[in-house]
Amino acid sequence: MKISRIEVGEVHIPLVTPFKTALRTVDSVNDLVVRVTADDGRTGFGEAPPTAVITGDTLGSVRCAIEDFIAPSILGMDIENLDGVMEKLHGCILKNTSAKAAVDMAVYDLYAQSCGKPLYQVLGGRRAQIETDLTISVNPVEEMAADSIKAVAQGFHILKIKVGKEGREDVRRIQAIREAVGPAVRLRVDANQGWSAKEAVRIIRSLEDKGLDIDLVEQPVKAHDFAGMQYVTANVATPVLADESVFSTEDAIRLIQGQAADLINIKLMKTGGIHEALKICAVAETYGVECMIGCMLESKIAVSAAAHLAAGKGIITRADLDGPSLCSMDPYEGGPSYEGPHIRMNKTPGIGIVSAPCFTS
Ligand code: MG
Repeated sequence: MKISRIEVGEVHIPLVTPFKTALRTVDSVNDLVVRVTADDGRTGFGEAPPTAVITGDTLGSVRCAIEDFIAPSILGMDIENLDGVMEKLHGCILKNTSAKAAVDMAVYDLYAQSCGKPLYQVLGGRRAQIETDLTISVNPVEEMAADSIKAVAQGFHILKIKVGKEGREDVRRIQAIREAVGPAVRLRVDANQGWSAKEAVRIIRSLEDKGLDIDLVEQPVKAHDFAGMQYVTANVATPVLADESVFSTEDAIRLIQGQAADLINIKLMKTGGIHEALKICAVAETYGVECMIGCMLESKIAVSAAAHLAAGKGIITRADLDGPSLCSMDPYEGGPSYEGPHIRMNKTPGIGIVSAPCFTS
């Protein structure tokens, strides 16, 4: 089963409501879609968002990396030689993790199809379904409380609250949400690098003193503030999850060994796909550090690749894969099913996606 063609298209999907974090505001998914065709006619799909503020990737840079570097280096290679394909894919260009992720997942899709199994079974097969949280965008307090009540009414048991714009107001936001949704809902807080280390400790301790029962705090300080991550992790009881601080396996090892986080957030767009994400899982398993699987503003192709990874690996104990829930429509055929917080893996081989609107034939 050889790689005979690699095509790049685009998908545009309006969001139900604008997505707001400490870093940006976005109102639609505008992603690149990749289709890899094998010589037996089977197809694998991949996707990459241009998350310039986090990965540095733009639509143009992702397309160029795929068309000018990645595609020429793996065309004609045998899918069954997965390790060889991955070595070429990851070795042909530095960084460009989103472009690598899009092609990597399409190759894994084809590899699982060649095994005749859904991808999660090839990756470990831990469970056939996972539960995701839903993101509550950063907005005025009353609006965030109302959005949280709506999310719980839609069946979500875990909410991820975006904060990090204003210190004291952030505490009010979380308190208002806790009061609105009651004690049974799990709350995660994502500061998206918005606090200083001392500010983070003050805010998180205040959340602890108020008994707001926060599941975890994600990326309290700047991505490269290693000492800040260490300081926050050492000085609060709430688990600290590293997101923007960890792209590669080397980052994960450094953070874990330096006790600069309690949990690791794996995203395929940071790792450059499933191949590198599996290495982070292996490191995390070795140290007994649980992982969350997350996504950027991605639609069903990329989120489904991440969902299969999470379903495959036991060390991934938390899922933040709400991309498809934020989209106003699903333009693809096939793949896992998304019902409220429940993501159920397809029983068909691969990731399960069989068509994307940008590829008509
Ligand atoms: Mg995050």
